[in-house]
Amino acid sequence: MHDHDDHHHHDNHFSDMQARVKALETVLTQKGLIDPAAIDAIVETYETKVGPRNGARVVAKAWSEPDFADWLSRDATAAIASLGYGGRQGEHMRAVFNTAATHNLVVCTLCSCYPWAVLGLPPVWYKAPPYRSRAVIDPRSVLEEFGLTLPQTKKIRVWDSTAELRYIVIPERPEGTEGLDQEALADLVTRDSMIGTGLAKPVGAGR
Ligand code: FE
Repeated sequence: MHDHDDHHHHDNHFSDMQARVKALETVLTQKGLIDPAAIDAIVETYETKVGPRNGARVVAKAWSEPDFADWLSRDATAAIASLGYGGRQGEHMRAVFNTAATHNLVVCTLCSCYPWAVLGLPPVWYKAPPYRSRAVIDPRSVLEEFGLTLPQTKKIRVWDSTAELRYIVIPERPEGTEGLDQEALADLVTRDSMIGTGLAKPVGAGR
């Protein structure tokens, strides 16, 4: 069962909202009140920078503190809330940990459920039908299209999000990061690595 609440954007609702936003944007632009490029920049910032930083801090803490990682694996909703990143009522988080043997990938096959509290706005491809359908059927090929080729021996587990339960992937900690503090570790954690379409960055790769 896949419930839809008011902040859970089913495609039909989302199209309606998109139309309203577009109409508003057009009117404001014509009146010279806003610059569409500035709006694009703000959305881009929330999609790639502000939002996913919360999740990156969760991952960095899990890498650094075994007790926190254990808590996260048992009750991700509470562990994440302890950092001040709230799920909405009725919305539970589950953290799935990548290991040497298993890679995890998150999708919402029915619409676009996404862990907003830790990852911010979902990327466009996450909401697109090709990703939603193919991530389940052929995850290995989908990952290759993201530039991520996993060894055949590595198992891929696909997690289908719902309005009630949303997932964050805890990527494997990169090699050679023993001396890094949590802030430096968080810089290695990309949005895509927490969806499972990427890995954490190697040390020295920069932002
Ligand atoms: Fe959904």
